[in-house]
Amino acid sequence: MLLIRCPYCEEERPELEFRNAGEAHVVRSSDMASISDEDFEKFFFIRNNPKGVIFERWRHVHGCARFFNAARDTVTDKFIVTYKAGMPKPDLDKITDAPSAVAATEPPAKKKPARRAPAKKKDA
Ligand SMILES: [Zn+2]
Repeated sequence: MLLIRCPYCEEERPELEFRNAGEAHVVRSSDMASISDEDFEKFFFIRNNPKGVIFERWRHVHGCARFFNAARDTVTDKFIVTYKAGMPKPDLDKITDAPSAVAATEPPAKKKPARRAPAKKKDA
């Protein structure tokens, strides 16, 4: 199961508690009424879809319900860093344990899901 760290709760929680909220750091014009149709289309509909690192908004819907930002590698699906909404994009070169750096040299490992041993029945 993918674990995502909520920067407000300050703990890693299962991905089922979170919802993606689209690309982060999309700047809204201060005067939307005066922008061209093309600029409005870019603001409203056009999003990056990189193969690699993307900055996204996420919401901890089944936790604190707050929005935060994350840098995620779209190839490995690994979260590089999460940070509070309103903070600037982090400098990913300063994050030493970035999974994208590992992915550049190693193919993604295929893991089997961990299975728990069935509980042993106790003789009464
Ligand atoms: Zn949270």
